Amino acid sequence: MTVLTGVAGSGKSSLATELVDQHEAIVIDQKPVSTNRRSTPITYTGIAPAIRRLFARRNDVPASLFSANSDGGCPDCKGTGVIYTDLAFMEGQEVVCETCHGRRFTPEVLAHTVDGMSIADVDDLTVEQAVARLPDKGIARALEQLAAVGLGYLRLGQSLSTLSGGECQRVKIAKELREVEQTTTYVLDEPTTGLHMSDIDALLHVLDRLVELGNDVVVIEHNLDVIRRADWLIDLGPGPGRDGGTILFEGHVADYTGYDTPTCRALADAPE
Ligand SMILES: [Zn+2]
Repeated sequence: MTVLTGVAGSGKSSLATELVDQHEAIVIDQKPVSTNRRSTPITYTGIAPAIRRLFARRNDVPASLFSANSDGGCPDCKGTGVIYTDLAFMEGQEVVCETCHGRRFTPEVLAHTVDGMSIADVDDLTVEQAVARLPDKGIARALEQLAAVGLGYLRLGQSLSTLSGGECQRVKIAKELREVEQTTTYVLDEPTTGLHMSDIDALLHVLDRLVELGNDVVVIEHNLDVIRRADWLIDLGPGPGRDGGTILFEGHVADYTGYDTPTCRALADAPE
């Protein structure tokens, strides 16, 4: 893990942009994972068909029954669980469907269960609960990466459009952990922005995991906890703009002592 640091405007982002332009690198940011409100951990990890097949197998009925937007969906809300009312002169409003009470399926479909859970109960499980309770190894494997990045508390039916920036970033890392077959370089621009202390720990943990798998991780960061975890530190400066662009230090964090630079002073002033 390489950390680029330095005062604002010292050239960190320019250096990272150059890196992305000249090498194969993947930028992981805090932008939303999906703007589609129907996107959930189930659709994101691609386990929806496996869950439907599990219910079909156990109950000896067609798998299509367990798809909310086809056969088994509540006819009144078309399997969305909500009714959208468009009022003249007012902003449209969403209310929970009175027929299915937001459960999205017909009562007949909800009567079919797996280990005592209906298809709607599965939507209410958290990722962590689902890994433990759904009797299907493939489903568990697909969900384990979300748990590994500290998102085990997300509900399977939760819209991903509700996630914070930090959560979106970790969902993207989970995808990389799951899909990437070849090692590559990841670039993250100030990934701790807006994160709580515990979230920073979770983020560092998954970055470590990417590095353990043989990837290079380049992080632009001011956060001292992240700087201290760097395997290689590059400090740019000395000032912003035309005073920037010079490498003030490059090497192991432990060797960055006694320099008259803002980063070095900050590291000395805030002991671990
Ligand atoms: Zn309904």
